[in-house]
Amino acid sequence: MTRTPKEYLHGPNPAISLNATYYKGQRSVYGRDTNPTWEYLEEEIGRLENGLCSVFASGMGAIASMIGGMSKSQRLYLARDSYNGTRRLSEFLGKIGRLDLAYATPSEIREKTFLKGARPGDIFFFESPSNPELNVYDISEIASACKESGVLVAVDSTLATPILQQPLNLGADIVIHSLTKAISGHSDVLGGAVVVRDRDLDADFKMRRSLFGAIASAQDAFLILRGLKTLEIRMERAVANANSAFEVLYDRIGSESLRYPYHRDSDELAVAKTQMKSGGSVLSVIFEGSAQADAFVDSLNIFHRATSLGGVESLAERRAFHKGEESTHPGLVRLSFGVEPWEELKGDLLSALEGIGL
Ligand code: PLP
Repeated sequence: MTRTPKEYLHGPNPAISLNATYYKGQRSVYGRDTNPTWEYLEEEIGRLENGLCSVFASGMGAIASMIGGMSKSQRLYLARDSYNGTRRLSEFLGKIGRLDLAYATPSEIREKTFLKGARPGDIFFFESPSNPELNVYDISEIASACKESGVLVAVDSTLATPILQQPLNLGADIVIHSLTKAISGHSDVLGGAVVVRDRDLDADFKMRRSLFGAIASAQDAFLILRGLKTLEIRMERAVANANSAFEVLYDRIGSESLRYPYHRDSDELAVAKTQMKSGGSVLSVIFEGSAQADAFVDSLNIFHRATSLGGVESLAERRAFHKGEESTHPGLVRLSFGVEPWEELKGDLLSALEGIGL
């Protein structure tokens, strides 16, 4: 990952360009089309993902630029285990007649049977790992099958981050990130990104961003860039914490209760090891039901009881609590590991388990 230092104009940090309009003859014309601070961020994310990046106001802004710009002759095949915001947006657009939506279940994805009726120009959008079930899908295999049908492959790689996985290198056409999560890493800013290889597709996303107005502020782009500088080292610690937690929880509550991309008993372990450098910083635990899960979360002291993931602070939440999460197991608690010392997190997890008699 090390690279020669980027030479910004004045020093190691870029300027925050606070301009809604630019003088004639400058590279930027109007603040909704381009901004020099976004471009620095796009260059960095593009370099990590090996593609051309457009940044957006949020992960949902990036997703909406793809889904919301589809024509009615294109079908969106959406993984059933996608993030609830993605499902809710797609269902809303479907309901008002603006999107031809078809869901693909995990087994239909693995067997690629969802592609049976697919037509060229359709899009298949999935997460790997998925949030919060943490299912892993074989991106290369899916990309080859989709290519045969002329279907574009879009991967939401938010949970992996570009440090652990690069979907474009595995054959995907479009990569989506919520920059709100590990890339910015401090739970203090929202952002999104789309990364592609095709120049026309890149221009298309930038046009949609401009016309939909889903733009990040220059200050937010600066904060995300600042977070990005420490992404690799933060991920190292967060992943180590998640791995250690997996071992403790495996011994304490057993294999069946855990969801993790590098789960040692998972059928997907070989795929995960091929396409991800590690199992990531998010782990889900499935308790008996909502009461036990709530009691566990309430007994934690170091983990913050809050939604989101990928920040420097560890977070815990029972997902089915949210609107749109009715299909998630009522006892599923998602743990997002931060960078705290492992011994502190371990003590917290063990005493919370003890507190609920496990
Ligand atoms: N994709 C995934 C996998 C997410 O978990 C989220 C948010 O939790 C999003 C996209 C949406 O991102 P944002 O909250 O930045 O709009």
